[in-house]
Amino acid sequence: MSRRPFRVGRSRTGLGLFATKPIRKNSRIVEYKGPLLTGKAAEKAENGGNRYLYEINKRWTIDGAARSNVARYGNHSCNPNADSYNVKKRVFIRAIKNIKPGDEIVYDYGIDYLKNVIGKSNCQCSRCRKRRAKRAAENRAKRKRKEARLARAKVSSRTSAKKSSKKGAKKATKRKA
Ligand SMILES: [Zn+2]
Repeated sequence: MSRRPFRVGRSRTGLGLFATKPIRKNSRIVEYKGPLLTGKAAEKAENGGNRYLYEINKRWTIDGAARSNVARYGNHSCNPNADSYNVKKRVFIRAIKNIKPGDEIVYDYGIDYLKNVIGKSNCQCSRCRKRRAKRAAENRAKRKRKEARLARAKVSSRTSAKKSSKKGAKKATKRKA
């Protein structure tokens, strides 16, 4: 167990896999293990809410829901440092970049999973969070510019209002005297 180059730890979305040793690009990290289901059984499991189904092909799907399948803790990223591949009916996760100790090991679950299960606007991967933060900053800047514009408009209308009220005040004092 200790020979694994990673540990299961807390991530932004629950649990995740974190490198404990340097992992070289192209090296195999872990097998995605579980019983094989045929298409129909996989469909049934999916409808039952199983989110750990790895479809190898139309015919075979791995049910990776068991906790003993540590690969199931690997989170999705749109900017992954690992990917999955199959050798016949077995599935493995391998590094596609050199991974440093402490880095989270993430792979791309594919567009269908992103769209249908995670939801594109809910993706918590580093790339999506950066993209959203950038957009939020742009929107804040836009709002600030708009507020500044409105404030300037208010100031100029207030100064013209002051001028007219001063005139009114003068008139009033005159009347008193
Ligand atoms: Zn993402």
